[in-house]
Amino acid sequence: MERMTSPQNTPSPAVSASAATAPAATDSKRRPVRRPAQVMPATEGWDQAKNPAGRPLLQFKSPRVSQPPVHLADLTLPEREAKFKEMGLPAFRAKQLSVHYFQHYTTDPEQMSDLPKDRRAEITETMFPKLLTEIKRLTTDNGDTVKFLWRLFDGSLVESVLMRYPGRITLCVSSQCGCGMNCPFCATGQAGLTRNMSTAEILDQIVQANRVIAEGGLGNLRRDGGHDAERVTNIVFMGMGEPLANYKRVMNAVHRMVADGPEGLGMSARGITVSTVGLAPAINKLAQEGLAITFALSLHAPDDELRDELIPVNDKWKVDEVLDAAYNYYKVTGRRVSIEYALIKDMNDHPWRAELLAKKLNQRGRGWVHVNPIPLNPTPGSIWTCSEPHVMQEFIDTLIENGVPTTLRDTRGKEIDGACGQLAAAE
Ligand code: SAH
Repeated sequence: MERMTSPQNTPSPAVSASAATAPAATDSKRRPVRRPAQVMPATEGWDQAKNPAGRPLLQFKSPRVSQPPVHLADLTLPEREAKFKEMGLPAFRAKQLSVHYFQHYTTDPEQMSDLPKDRRAEITETMFPKLLTEIKRLTTDNGDTVKFLWRLFDGSLVESVLMRYPGRITLCVSSQCGCGMNCPFCATGQAGLTRNMSTAEILDQIVQANRVIAEGGLGNLRRDGGHDAERVTNIVFMGMGEPLANYKRVMNAVHRMVADGPEGLGMSARGITVSTVGLAPAINKLAQEGLAITFALSLHAPDDELRDELIPVNDKWKVDEVLDAAYNYYKVTGRRVSIEYALIKDMNDHPWRAELLAKKLNQRGRGWVHVNPIPLNPTPGSIWTCSEPHVMQEFIDTLIENGVPTTLRDTRGKEIDGACGQLAAAE
């Protein structure tokens, strides 16, 4: 199907498939052009859970299931010291144990010769209940991307994806078992939300990844032994789950990521990205945390007609409301916001949508945001595909021409089902 090449004559958002057969429009040179097709979201091969009103079901609350036992990483350093006191141990022992976990990535009593021998087993059993058991590891051919499948204490399965880039190592972490946001194009949402992950379960993904890197599991091990040489430097909350629906635990985890050792991992806040479908009140709360983390909004459509179907939480917080919250994040923190936009063929990739997106972003200001389009990754049962390369290019060019910095996101790990939206955690 030929695409409309001139976006001047922006049609109002076409919301029904019938637009595919809409009569030919005329561009400024009076050359007849066909309106591009408008494919609407629909699931095939699986049923999207619906609420009594027939809208996609949203689950904000974690079902009442038991949480994992308390782990050292759930606690602040003073809380750890208090716990040690209860056990009749001096406070400095809490620090020693924290060094083992956050700086040496070990929970093995055999390696803790600085702790009293007769209490080592008891201390590690109390402070390090087993949280994540690795049950599968997939590595790409060139070794620079590794996907982990973890089993949690209650049998829940989650995944994380480790990626080496020049000059940084990024871990994509999960924050919930499953996800309650029910986006029809994302594999994680298909099974709904099982439960929130605990702070320590979130952090243990990083500690375990650091251990794997130190063991040489991510190839190309640096040999100079520099302090920052070989460990996770960047975190993206783009694994399974909606991080802002598990706000408290996710924020505790972030605080521990940035806390200096031995309280935490001593990571830079700038390297941590929290990505959300757009829970506006939580975005505003995040802006007040006083953390210089990066904020990413999964927008995927600039118009409510389409976004209502693509991102069900749009029923609650509309495009303008989430963009206002994103802009507020920038105003309060000074951190440039990232807009994620999965390009889906004939669904959200029309030039008029690029124009509308640019307009809505520019209305709020300049220099506060950049757009990160990403080609849609295939998910089970999906009937949609990613946009054609020239359409993607046109979408990007349109945004750039309108003054919006835009870069196509590198998508990693497709061959190991580890790319965005593909995490479904099956054995
Ligand atoms: N719940 C959060 C974080 C997890 S998803 C959020 O939605 O932002 C991380 C990113 O992957 C989001 O931008 C999400 O919209 C995107 N994504 C989901 N499914 C995808 C798919 N099939 N192809 C490409 N990106 C996808």
